[in-house]
Amino acid sequence: MKIVNIIKNSMIDFPRRIACVSFTLGCNYNCWYCQNATLLNRKDDLTSELFAFLEKRKGLIDGVVICGGEPTIHNDLPDFMQKIKSMGFDTKLDTNGTNPEMMKYLINNSLVDYIAMDLKAPPIKLDSVVKCNAKIAEIEKSIDLLMQNRVEYEFRTTVVPELTENDIKLLASRIAGAEKYFLQIYRKPDFLKNAPEPHSYETMKKYLEIAKNYVKSCELR
Ligand code: SF4
Repeated sequence: MKIVNIIKNSMIDFPRRIACVSFTLGCNYNCWYCQNATLLNRKDDLTSELFAFLEKRKGLIDGVVICGGEPTIHNDLPDFMQKIKSMGFDTKLDTNGTNPEMMKYLINNSLVDYIAMDLKAPPIKLDSVVKCNAKIAEIEKSIDLLMQNRVEYEFRTTVVPELTENDIKLLASRIAGAEKYFLQIYRKPDFLKNAPEPHSYETMKKYLEIAKNYVKSCELR
């Protein structure tokens, strides 16, 4: 696997930790609004630079976020996370949930401290949002895995314009009882002319109130 971008210090990407954020190359989805689209085909590999930076930051930052792209498409992700853990850092995985077996392996081997999983859309709309075969059976397994509560986790949905009140209800009811669910405000991608407008703040607040009926904690961000 290749690291194609690094944010060296973040206070917002890993709950309760100062973290470095690393972006892996490539994704098995093709979401039309992807803000990381320009990273997905980069060729330069910053893995050595990342580990050199982490070596210097031991004791100064708490954790490393591994996001993408989609990190779990890479078979050597567990080795990568093991190396980070062995340096004393906590790890957070950001994933679209398409590889429950990899997630289970990371949990079983204590290689991950926090997982943030995207719920892109309810099953009936998922393929059209991610612009490919979304692997719905795998997504369902990943939801069930996280809800076993064996690792700290959150679910999150970027509320793209095509998601309706009923879609939010379907998503939130699927994860009823979950610890944390975030509704993320969609930003129009710069690279897309004529991108649709986001929902109004009032609509987002309405969606928030719907989701709160199902999960233990739900916030906008
Ligand atoms: S899953 Fe994430 S990284 Fe992959 S295309 Fe969708 S938004 Fe982009």
